[in-house]
Parts: sequence; C-alpha cells; structure tokens
Amino acid sequence: MNIHEYQGKQVLKQYGVVVPEGKVAFTVEEAVEAAQSLGSPVCVVKAQIHAGGRGKAGGVKVAKSLDEVRTYAQEILGKVLVTHQTGPEGKEVKRLLIEEGCDIQKEYYIGVVIDRATGRVVIMASEEGGTEIEEVAEKTPEKIFRETVDPAIGLQMFQARKLAYAINIPTKQVNKAAKFMTALYTAFIEKDCSIAEINPLVVTGDGEVIALDAKLNFDSNAIFRHPDILELRDLDEEDAKEIEASKYDLSYIALDGNIGCMVNGAGLAMATMDIIKYYGGEPANFLDVGGGATTEKVTEAFKIILSDSSVKGIFINIFGGIMRCDVIANGVVEAAKQIGLDRPLVVRLEGTNVDLGKQILAESGLNIVAADSMADGAQKIVALV
Ligand code: ADP
Ligand code: MG
Repeated sequence: MNIHEYQGKQVLKQYGVVVPEGKVAFTVEEAVEAAQSLGSPVCVVKAQIHAGGRGKAGGVKVAKSLDEVRTYAQEILGKVLVTHQTGPEGKEVKRLLIEEGCDIQKEYYIGVVIDRATGRVVIMASEEGGTEIEEVAEKTPEKIFRETVDPAIGLQMFQARKLAYAINIPTKQVNKAAKFMTALYTAFIEKDCSIAEINPLVVTGDGEVIALDAKLNFDSNAIFRHPDILELRDLDEEDAKEIEASKYDLSYIALDGNIGCMVNGAGLAMATMDIIKYYGGEPANFLDVGGGATTEKVTEAFKIILSDSSVKGIFINIFGGIMRCDVIANGVVEAAKQIGLDRPLVVRLEGTNVDLGKQILAESGLNIVAADSMADGAQKIVALV
C-alpha cells in the first residue's frame, strides 16, 4: 500500500527523521492559510499524488509570497500531472502539501528496500540525489552504495557512517546523516514497509540533514498490524477494479494487456500469464479467485474483468482442487446474465466436478470456446483477440 508524501513525512517524524514543517491543503484557501501559519518567507507548493517525478512535471513550485502560493495552488490543484511514474493518462491532483522552503546545499539519495536475492533489508545511498535513481543505476552504477542489514542486530552505526562517507556527506554532518539512516531504518522495520525512499535527502545551509521527499510503501500482507497506516489509504489513487476486487478478497492486479484472465491459485495465475505471453498475447490482469471461492465471488471477479474496456477476450483457466468447476461455471453464467458477455471467452476446466462444470457452460447458451489444455487455451484466446 502506498501513501502520500505528507503522510509519509508524518510517519517518519515519529521516528526522529527530520522533515520540513508542512501542512496538507485540499483547497486554494487552505493552501494560503497553511502558508500563512507556517510563517516561512519561502514556501513550496507540492502536488500530492502517488507517483514521483512531480518536480519535472510542474507539480512542485517555490513560492516567495502568499500571492504566489495562491497562484501555484490554483495552477496545480485539479491539474492532471503526467510524470514518468503515472503513465500517459496522468493523475489528477486533489491535495497539496504546503511546506517551508529549504535552503538546499546539496541533494542526496537514501533508499531502504528489501533485496530479494539475499532476503535482507538493504540501505542504498548515492550523492546523485534529486534525479531518478533508476537513471543513476543505469548510467553511473558506481555511484550507488549499499549496506546489507543483518536482521538480528539491525543497522549498525558503522554501516550508516560508511554510507555517509561514501556519498560525500560533509564530515560535520556525517553523524547526523547516520542518525537519520538509523531512524529511517527503524521506521521501515516497525511499520512493515517494503520501500522507504528519501529522494532527496538534503544538507541545508545551516547544517541540518532533512528529508525533502518521502516515499513509503507498505507490505499489504502486514497492514492488519498497522491500523494507523491503513487509515492513510487514499482510494482516489488506486485502481477502481483493484478496490472492487479487494472488497471480495480477490487477488487482482490490473495490467496493460488485453486478455482478461480468471484463474485459481497464484502459481497457476502466474503460469497462465506466462503462457499467454509465450504465444504472443498480453494479459490484462492477474487474478487469483482463490481456493474456496463462492459463486458470488466468481461472479464479481468475472464482472470486474468485463468492466475493463481494454479487455478484448477472456481466458478462464481453472484447475479444480478445492475449487469446484461447477462453482466457476455458475459464476461465469451468472455474471454473463447480469451484464452480458460481448467478448470471446475461452475456458479450460480440469479437476473436481469438471463434467458438471462443462455441462453448465454448454447449457448456458453462452458463446464459449472450449480448450483441452493450457497451451491450447492460450493459443485460442491469443488468436481470438
Ligand atoms: P518529485 O520527486 O516527485 O519530483 P520532490 O519532493 O523530490 O518531488 O521535489 C522535487 C525537487 O523540488 C527536489 O529535488 C527539491 O530540489 C525541490 N524541493 C522539494 N521540496 C522542497 C522544499 N521544501 N524546499 C526547497 N526545495 C524543495
Ligand atoms: Mg523526489
């Protein structure tokens, strides 16, 4: 789960990470009031969307007066920002962060992530702050330094100092930077984050070490342990289909392709996406209806797939173990009855109650292409779309 920058900064502040003073604003008036109450001669007006690259896209503006705050707030609120992380359709700005302007001496990068290869938390640091870290990784990988954390003892001061020296933090600020990293690491662990990225971390004119940006991602599987974080969820920023799916406890992730997939079991769902790609198609989603799905759940899952206008065909690939094929068939027929089936549908059923499932589909009058195997089904749906 993702949260906004201003929320991330509030969370980090609880752990002693230094952040600028700032306030969220939903309207232009609130933005001006926020700037007034901050009383800073320079304020920064920052678009709050769940995507980075806002600065380059015109979503971060430095205002030197209340009039300028008003002008920039008017300009940015309601604007559709297109950044390298939003996709071409962009994201509408509905909230602003009004923050005190910071006297930046130099920008750095600090990121805490999980390294899947070692299964450990890694702190990454670079003196190329403010730019996209992906670009640094590609062009000048030698400028990114890493320290792997031993989970039994946590991030050690010597590791944090080593990183601070490696990225050329001025000697006077090395201890502050090391403390900053320790606080960031503690927040990451205690809040079950999957990413905590500060880009940029800055050293200011008067020698402070501050987080000017904050991107926190949380592990959804651990979110039940953090009701305070769950409260920060902003549904406006999430895919409507994914929200709908989460209501029915379906594992659904929207993708860019045009073949809708309905599968049971995460492994089979992954394999189904792979085989579609293998035969030259592009999956429109990952969907695992799970083991004990009811007809209602299957119906909702099928409706979510059909509601996606980029879906040009659907592939149902079910291996009925705990899941019964007749439940799937009933769900499909029910959903088709409710909203109509106007696109090609290929179905491959195997396992428990397969004959009954096939019979229900055959008697439904729906236009269904039957497949004998995964490969057969994938080839058929690719050909049909
Ligand atoms: P994004 O990463 O989405 O572009 P950032 O929060 O990193 O957004 O802001 C982009 C740039 O704007 C920063 O690299 C920094 O130079 C400048 N900036 C952001 N916040 C402030 C601030 N409070 N004071 C001064 N400059 C800022
Ligand atoms: Mg940034």
